Amino acid sequence: MKIKVLGTAAATSMPLGFCNCDVCKKARQNGGKDIRKRSSIIINDEMLIDLGPDSINACNIYGIDTGKIKYLIQTHSHSDHFDGGHFVTRWSEYATKNLNHLDIYCSYGTALDMNNWIKENEPSLDLFKEECKKDLKYELHIIKHGDIEKINDYEITAIDSKHDERIESLIYIISYKEKNLLYGTDLLKITEEAWKIIDNYKLDIVFLDQTYGEGFNNGGHLDESEIKKIIEYMNEHGITTQEAKIYATHISHEGNNTHEIMEAKAKLSGYSIAYDGMEINI
Ligand SMILES: [Zn+2]
Ligand SMILES: [Zn+2]
Ligand SMILES: [Zn+2]
Repeated sequence: MKIKVLGTAAATSMPLGFCNCDVCKKARQNGGKDIRKRSSIIINDEMLIDLGPDSINACNIYGIDTGKIKYLIQTHSHSDHFDGGHFVTRWSEYATKNLNHLDIYCSYGTALDMNNWIKENEPSLDLFKEECKKDLKYELHIIKHGDIEKINDYEITAIDSKHDERIESLIYIISYKEKNLLYGTDLLKITEEAWKIIDNYKLDIVFLDQTYGEGFNNGGHLDESEIKKIIEYMNEHGITTQEAKIYATHISHEGNNTHEIMEAKAKLSGYSIAYDGMEINI
């Protein structure tokens, strides 16, 4: 399984536009790993997790052919994870040629929200309508917490992230050739029910939401101290393999720091900080 990290920022990007806090100022000076695009990853150059506002440009920058994307897995529909503007360019009105069929997986609430954006901006399109599916060449697969979907060589397991209950936001375990990846952003908490599902897997790679640093939590997401507790629990219960790689993603400036400082701190607790353009092969 090849994982390319396309973006690692929270909704705010990093550095945050217009912000003059110490973290954003240092990030602008440093550049490199301190410049973060909105969070998404792509697996084996064909399975995109979250069509965010930066995902297509990130693929262009990292040499990934977006014409070959076959699957879109949406965690939820917040604007840093779904940019309908990219989606509607599949429409024949945009003179798009030779589209690959796209299988989309998301919760019903997320699909409704995505469709609201689409209908508002392109009133003749409707995500749920057959003619739209035919023209934009996709199939919409509605999934919910606990569902396990087989998609060719992949198996995806949907888990409630409690991040936005209105739209049934989800995190996913993606299994491919006996390797398991947990993509855990945006995540409020792992409930007991969620642990029961996760417990069935040996995780090789884990991404967790570190929107906030130590002592900061403005809600909706995990913070640094919560990540540490989750990692401890996973290690104690044998949920992660001995060689498992654990990364924090969805980084905002709130209580976090520059990449180098965060990475040094994370190492002490057995994880790393993801950065844009990072590639993992397992
Ligand atoms: Zn987000
Ligand atoms: Zn800032
Ligand atoms: Zn969100």
